[in-house]
Amino acid sequence: MWTIRGLILKERVAGENLKFADILTADEGVIEVKIKGYKKLTGSLLAATQLFSYADFSLAQTRSGYIVNSAQLQASFFDLGQDLVRFALGVYLCDLVSVLVKGRDTRQILRLLLNTLHILCKGVRSCALYKAIFEWRLLCEIGNMPDLVACSCCGCYENEQGMYFYPIDGHIICKTCDRSEGEEKRPRFLLQPSVLYTLRYITYSELEKLFRFQVSQEVCSRLAEVAEAYLLAQTERNYTSLSYYKSLLP
Ligand SMILES: [Zn+2]
Repeated sequence: MWTIRGLILKERVAGENLKFADILTADEGVIEVKIKGYKKLTGSLLAATQLFSYADFSLAQTRSGYIVNSAQLQASFFDLGQDLVRFALGVYLCDLVSVLVKGRDTRQILRLLLNTLHILCKGVRSCALYKAIFEWRLLCEIGNMPDLVACSCCGCYENEQGMYFYPIDGHIICKTCDRSEGEEKRPRFLLQPSVLYTLRYITYSELEKLFRFQVSQEVCSRLAEVAEAYLLAQTERNYTSLSYYKSLLP
């Protein structure tokens, strides 16, 4: 028997009365477990074995993997179910983690995801902002931290006219240095100083302070655009959960 705390990222029904779940843990990465007889579960075990459950799982090891014997719910984010857009965003964030964290230290990533789901449940600000913060910071945590300290040509920290961010390279070039006009088009985004400042904050701030800032609607829209482009450029794949989330937006 082995007890481990984690968050259910994904579930897959695998038969009449069997489902698999991927659990994100702090110390063991993502582990796959089997939940037998899930249709007949009641009470605390039922509550603790749903998508978005954060629980202590007692596992038995068998030849074919781990089976959940019992589970004690520690926290849940079921409130996401009250709003389809928020729910779909939660599914997408969990999907990103399950796809991208293999072989990574997951301690910080688990905290990032729990904090994001928590604030998403409260629903104070726009989904677009939470999504952008999460995408950007997740990339930082899995080894794709962009270099936003200074222009990669001249080393300047600021440029009143803005800086270009290159999602494929993950660096910035100030408008004075950038001479790629007319050359082969490489995707890039012109970041006004307020947007660059916010992206630096999301990149370098402590996790506890990650959501503690305010931005205008305009800055939020730009962040959303740049974060998604950076995620797609760096991970080089598509996400059906992202397409679904976007299909729900007005
Ligand atoms: Zn420069």
